[in-house]
Amino acid sequence: MQAGSFPKSARACLKSSALDQGKSGRIAIIGAGATGAVCAREMKRRFPKSEVALYEKSGRSGGRMVSVALAGLRPLELGAAFVSSRHPRILRLARDLSCDLAPVAFKSDGVFARDRWLNAGAGATGQAMLAATLAALAPDYFAQPPKRACLDSLSQLKLGDRYLWRCTIDEVLRRHWPADAIYRARATHGCTSNFGAANALDTLLTAAWEGAPGQRFFRFVNGAEAFCRSVLEDGVRAGVDVRTHYELAAITRAPAGLRLVFKTPAGACALEADVVILALPRHGVADLAIAEDIAGSRFRRDLGAIVDVPAFKLFLAYNAPWWRARGFAKNAGEVSAVFTDLPLQQNYFENEGRVMLGVFADGDNARVWRRYVEGAPSSALAPKALLCAAQRALTRLYGDIPAPCAGVYASWRAGWHHWRAGVRSSEVRERLAQPNPDLPLFICGELLAEHAGWSESALDNAEDTIERASAWMASFKSQALASRSPLAPDGGASTRKVQS
Ligand SMILES: Cc1cc2nc3c(=O)[nH]c(=O)nc-3n(C[C@H](O)[C@H](O)[C@H](O)COP(=O)(O)OP(=O)(O)OC[C@H]3O[C@@H](n4cnc5c(N)ncnc54)[C@H](O)[C@@H]3O)c2cc1C
Repeated sequence: MQAGSFPKSARACLKSSALDQGKSGRIAIIGAGATGAVCAREMKRRFPKSEVALYEKSGRSGGRMVSVALAGLRPLELGAAFVSSRHPRILRLARDLSCDLAPVAFKSDGVFARDRWLNAGAGATGQAMLAATLAALAPDYFAQPPKRACLDSLSQLKLGDRYLWRCTIDEVLRRHWPADAIYRARATHGCTSNFGAANALDTLLTAAWEGAPGQRFFRFVNGAEAFCRSVLEDGVRAGVDVRTHYELAAITRAPAGLRLVFKTPAGACALEADVVILALPRHGVADLAIAEDIAGSRFRRDLGAIVDVPAFKLFLAYNAPWWRARGFAKNAGEVSAVFTDLPLQQNYFENEGRVMLGVFADGDNARVWRRYVEGAPSSALAPKALLCAAQRALTRLYGDIPAPCAGVYASWRAGWHHWRAGVRSSEVRERLAQPNPDLPLFICGELLAEHAGWSESALDNAEDTIERASAWMASFKSQALASRSPLAPDGGASTRKVQS
């Protein structure tokens, strides 16, 4: 799309370059999830004179941090819920921004598989099986886990004569464990995408990281979404410009920097930026029109190495917390977890309130529940058919229980990601982080996380991106100041000038 085809209002926003206004660079960050919020805040702190703008396609910030507040209840987390004592980035941000965290005491309260409750001590849990498998393949890993770039150092690991990263996790598990034990482990893990066709090396390392012994878990007292908003608000106080309802559609080259084309409620709009950071899920990046001369010929193939894992959560509200009489979540502060091979996958019971997490499913199990909300918003009050289906499944586990009076669900097209078998994720991650070394286009977030599905790991790669983008800005500033020439002779939009 050419600037000439924009509506008049949009063309009016194509103005003179930032340097003309005594600024030094325009930084555009796309996606107002945790990664985008952290990038925007940090880039503004590092480059206070630059225009830093954050564009979000929806009307809210938070991305996969969505908290629903119901009267008298602690926020229900439809996306990210827990933080570990081993998540230093999130803990530091929470402390700096005074976002209170409360400890969570998890208790594993049973496994229901093949239509019966299993004996708690019989066989390895999913977490234990994955950890034991990694210990067998890489005995040194647990003695001294590598701190960074662990995938690089471990990419030489082999199963027989094949590199681990070439194998699926199921191929590896089948070498070490009987089929029955694998079935049970999958039912007790809570995350089916850690089994099946996922890349064995990435899956084992993530399982070891997330299951590391001695960690404590927390949740945000005011909800994960409020945490994300606090990060963004801190950036806004420093001067970050936030635009909601700006959906990035295309990226093309500009005379200096990159031209971004957005869909907005007022029509298409274009602007130019000197640095662009995409903080989107994989499908968000894949849906963009990015010319091959920008991203390179391997870009689409590299994106194809990452698999979107659908996820589904359904909270159910009851007139009374029937589970307490059944022995679940009896003690103050306790969260009881039940795992099952039914599509419900996981149930969480709280000691307080009258709401339980009735479905927490991923992969094929998530697809089972998505059918009930086809064509509906991705999160909303649960329709009757969904409530009935969940209730039918719950009675298989718990027998005669009261019917829920209401429910709220979230259906995630990509709750998180995993890497395809046959892919060396460390190499693909490096290429995607800056698809063209000659252009200021950077990608970060959960899609490139070393440990899929964790915000901490998304922020870990955001840190690398901030360093790369900062280095680019530093070289850009010295070049631009030396020449003092306009950045965009044909009129690039100042991000501040784009109105919603
Ligand atoms: C059900 C569930 C449970 C989870 N549990 C945990 C947990 O307990 N602990 C934990 O640490 N993590 C958890 N996670 C993962 C965590 O939510 C993510 O790692 C993190 O929120 C990812 O942040 P992000 O900024 O990388 O991406 P996102 O949060 O997905 O943000 C991307 C943003 O980009 C926007 N966007 C997309 N396309 C465009 C476009 N074209 N133009 C403009 N904007 C666009 C989206 O609307 C979104 O706001 C969970 C996730 C899910 C789904």
